[in-house]
Amino acid sequence: MQLDIPYELENFIGGHFIGPLSGKFISNINPATASNVGQIPDSDEKDVEVAVKSAQKAFPEWSTTSLEKRFLILNRIAELIDENNEQLALAETNDNGKPLWLSKKTDIYRAAANFRFFATGIMHFATESHNMEDQAVNYTLRQPIGVVGCISPWNLPLYLFTWKIAPALAAGNCVIAKPSEVTPVTAFLLGKICKEAGLPDGVLNIIHGTGPSCGEAIVKHPEVKAISFTGSTKAGERIASIAAPMFKKLSLELGGKNPTIIFADCDWEKMMTTTIQSSFSNQGQICLCGSRILIESSVYEKFKKEFTQRTKELTVGDPLLETSNQGAIVSKVHFDKILNCIKIAKEEGGNILCGGHSLSPEGRCSNGYFIAPTIIEGLGPDCKTNTEEIFGPVVTLQPFNNLKEALHLANANQYGLACTVWTQDITTANKVASKIETGIVWINCWLLRDLRTPFGGLKNSGVGREGGWEALRFFTEAKNVCIQF
Ligand code: NAD
Repeated sequence: MQLDIPYELENFIGGHFIGPLSGKFISNINPATASNVGQIPDSDEKDVEVAVKSAQKAFPEWSTTSLEKRFLILNRIAELIDENNEQLALAETNDNGKPLWLSKKTDIYRAAANFRFFATGIMHFATESHNMEDQAVNYTLRQPIGVVGCISPWNLPLYLFTWKIAPALAAGNCVIAKPSEVTPVTAFLLGKICKEAGLPDGVLNIIHGTGPSCGEAIVKHPEVKAISFTGSTKAGERIASIAAPMFKKLSLELGGKNPTIIFADCDWEKMMTTTIQSSFSNQGQICLCGSRILIESSVYEKFKKEFTQRTKELTVGDPLLETSNQGAIVSKVHFDKILNCIKIAKEEGGNILCGGHSLSPEGRCSNGYFIAPTIIEGLGPDCKTNTEEIFGPVVTLQPFNNLKEALHLANANQYGLACTVWTQDITTANKVASKIETGIVWINCWLLRDLRTPFGGLKNSGVGREGGWEALRFFTEAKNVCIQF
């Protein structure tokens, strides 16, 4: 199939590609070049209304479509994503600024994997039964909810968009989905792929626009019965305040400020290589990146020296080049925010070990939004730099003397998404895993993902879990049926 990208993107509603009813558009900027590359529909509640009507019309048939047929369509979507990896990856990189090799290897690969995983998952999804000895038997029906809303962020655009849409569709729901207005192109192309794969009209509706105008219209619509949201804690709070009084089902995957805990006995080389990745991959714009690095005092100076040296060796540049380890920051707004956070770190007394400034690569990217990977030391757990999410290529170093102190520093935060622990001592590793206040713990690895596992955070990092059966349970309503013998 030919995946052409028009200058003016369109919404995908009821199986048709149509412009926003208001006729209004937002500019789409390539962050690596700072140039305007297209127009995005600035949709509002009127477009959402049409999409909800289409989804409601499609629901009776889709919710009763056989599991095998749903599997075949979703699996076909996965195949088409794989077949179009190159073009989707280029679109993702142009929108987001991430290196093209990363888009191909991670983002687009994983988008296909999400569809493949839930296509097969729904074929194996079973429900419970509870036997009351010789009195009765209960069984649980898990039925699709109806029309559901999926709202996703810009950092892993197609990867996170499909992570929500695939289980929602597999479970038999019809979906109103909104990608980030900062990175809309691969979501637009997904509409083309779904049409080609034979997904019936109205089952998936993709609407583009801003959070306050389009996103909130989805959340507020009384016929959208559940909201699956990934994004900032601030937007999550706003969404919860609208959806909770309407008694909607809510899944909120929010911000993070993840600790990386390094003990002196770790496998040093593996730790060092992985910590460079967990700190700066995707320009530090992964919710799972470790932004607070805690190091056992006895190896603090050794770590600082080597880590700073290896960070300085990272190549930041044109995302289209294979040689670029890091690309551009996603937008001017976010670029300014990160530079302001670095300014605050300096005001708080932080010592910048490397980076701390913007960069201007030569050639076509000279006006783009690039920031040098930055390491800061000398700040305690209570300062803004160590408490607030920066979501960029910026990490801090803090020493600790023992396990208790490491846990104290790690948990001294409003967020609770993920933690990485480096040690050869299984007892230490298990103690951290049991006492750490995060939803995900990686021991001697980072970002190793099995799609069957529960995914999500504690505290201000969110409510609910995605992944595996958790996602299929979220996108279904449980109904207990009791039969007396
Ligand atoms: P954001 O909250 O600004 O936007 C996310 C999405 O929500 C976008 O589509 C946006 O248009 C929409 N939105 C914004 N306000 C809304 C509102 N009031 N109502 C409805 N929709 C609204 O987040 P972002 O800047 O795009 O993404 C970065 C954030 O996402 C970071 O905080 C990061 O930690 C978080 N994140 C979390 C996870 C996770 O799994 N926990 C994964 C990726 C990113």
